[in-house]
Amino acid sequence: MKPLPKIALVDDSLYAAQAKVYPREIEGRFARLRTLAMFVLLGVFYVFPWLRWDGRQAVLFDLPARKFYVFGLTFWPQDFFWLAWLLIIAGLSLFFFTALAGRLWCGYACPQTVWTEVFLWIERACEGRRNQRIKLDAAPWNAEKLRRKGTKQLLWVGFAAWTGFTFVGFFTPITDLAREAANFSLSGWEAFWIVFYGFATYGNAGFLREQVCKYMCPYARFQSAMFDKDTLVISYDAARGDPRGARKRSADPKALGLGDCVDCEACVQVCPTGIDIRNGLQIECIACAACIDACDDVMDKMDYARGLIGYTTENRRAGKPLHVLRWRTLIYGGLLALLIGTFVWGIVHRAPLILEVLRDRNALYRRGSDGAIENSYTVKLVNKTEVAQRVRLAVADDSSVQIVDARDITLPAGQVTSVPLTLSAPAGHIQGKQTIKLQARSDDDRMAVVQSAQFFAPKEP
Ligand code: SF4
Ligand code: SF4
Repeated sequence: MKPLPKIALVDDSLYAAQAKVYPREIEGRFARLRTLAMFVLLGVFYVFPWLRWDGRQAVLFDLPARKFYVFGLTFWPQDFFWLAWLLIIAGLSLFFFTALAGRLWCGYACPQTVWTEVFLWIERACEGRRNQRIKLDAAPWNAEKLRRKGTKQLLWVGFAAWTGFTFVGFFTPITDLAREAANFSLSGWEAFWIVFYGFATYGNAGFLREQVCKYMCPYARFQSAMFDKDTLVISYDAARGDPRGARKRSADPKALGLGDCVDCEACVQVCPTGIDIRNGLQIECIACAACIDACDDVMDKMDYARGLIGYTTENRRAGKPLHVLRWRTLIYGGLLALLIGTFVWGIVHRAPLILEVLRDRNALYRRGSDGAIENSYTVKLVNKTEVAQRVRLAVADDSSVQIVDARDITLPAGQVTSVPLTLSAPAGHIQGKQTIKLQARSDDDRMAVVQSAQFFAPKEP
């Protein structure tokens, strides 16, 4: 038997330790756009729970009562269809905007990006600019390092706790929550979710940062399915930039055999995921456009044209025209417009009154003293408006079927009201089973709703 070949043992490991990324601060048109998006999104998150509307919290997802309040609108469990609709719109928007301009969501609106930016601001305020942070991390522990790092951690934890508190404030009236927190009387669940969400914010935005985008986010994995050669992506113009090399501002790059890239690495230093865009489109790129701002700044200083790194398409780089409107974007855009239009129409035309008719299960029918056939029901009326309503029930499609003891019913605002109902039909008028339509109409005639119910009677010769 032949001896087995010897396996060479090498000292290489598949594991590479993660190098900490120290993104450099950057100014420019895309940085301003990102800051604006951040203020809008964080403003919505931190301010909305404190707004009032008609004497209650403007945005409140009241899970125990199974009602969602969004300014003047109240969503009941029956409206959760629209919530599913909203999720479909969100999913399709992601498809549309990704096909149009790549990872716009990641660069400008993803909570991971937005909160990481805030944590970075705090880090810069406490530990200084990029070089100072690198030096501080490399320095041995001393009082100054302890003070800077300690302050940062305190502010991070405080901000994360505030974020957790705000999150829970969307589900529990936030003023009550604040009172309970001040009196140390939070319920177990409230305390748990504040700590959980705060911890998730701290862990993702302070500790994991770009690792979430690189290794944990599923969107990065399937985004390429939505890309085509006409999708706007951020890329480096290698034909113009290479060969790279340092030179004096006054030097003629052509005479030196160089392209426009001065190899300053500013684009790498500002990158929050620590990649070099000059190596081509990479899965780690979150399209934040910081490298465009950094490179434009360098190009301005060198007196070169801007755009060595910029938004472009694969086709454009190959000298073909830019096609923003194409089948893919038209179909996604058309579907999105249709879904949004239907959503708005549906919300505006939602029935403010719901009527449910439940049959009495104890008896199919009974005969009244005058020989008429009677059926009993329980009627459930849901007043989805914010004011009390008076409604009257009537049989809509068969004038011979009557409501026994018909009277107006008062429905309190935003409440479910159950009332017993008896319908009566002359003997012999209905044979066996018949579907009848019951109508509830408000006394000002502004709301009306119709519901079917079954009426049973004996088959008589
Ligand atoms: S490569 Fe440029 S756009 Fe991509 S993540 Fe880095 S800085 Fe942002
Ligand atoms: S910032 Fe521009 S010039 Fe500097 S290395 Fe990057 S691509 Fe080259």
